[in-house]
Amino acid sequence: MTGKKEVGRYPARRTHHNRESAVRRVEHDCSPRRRCARCALMTVIQYRFEAFRQAFGRDPQLNEPLFFAADCTYPRRAEHEQVMVQLKQAANATGVPFSPLVKFLELE
Ligand SMILES: [Zn+2]
Repeated sequence: MTGKKEVGRYPARRTHHNRESAVRRVEHDCSPRRRCARCALMTVIQYRFEAFRQAFGRDPQLNEPLFFAADCTYPRRAEHEQVMVQLKQAANATGVPFSPLVKFLELE
């Protein structure tokens, strides 16, 4: 949100949506500084992957929730409210906008 000085910090990588964008013609303006909901979601998923690893000491399996109940010794899916809290926290931590994510995931 401040100035344009940080542009140089990012290599001009265009790894955002390559194969998917052809399938779903969603995009818009997507850049490292302003990611579309799809790329924001990928960022948040990576973040939650890490949270899972820290909580359970291993990688999540495909059928396991990335938004899990915090007070559980096994990965049990979090309640809706907790999902929202975790999603918001992940968005804040990774610097992606929250509300497009919510829309994208149809959590409203
Ligand atoms: Zn994107």
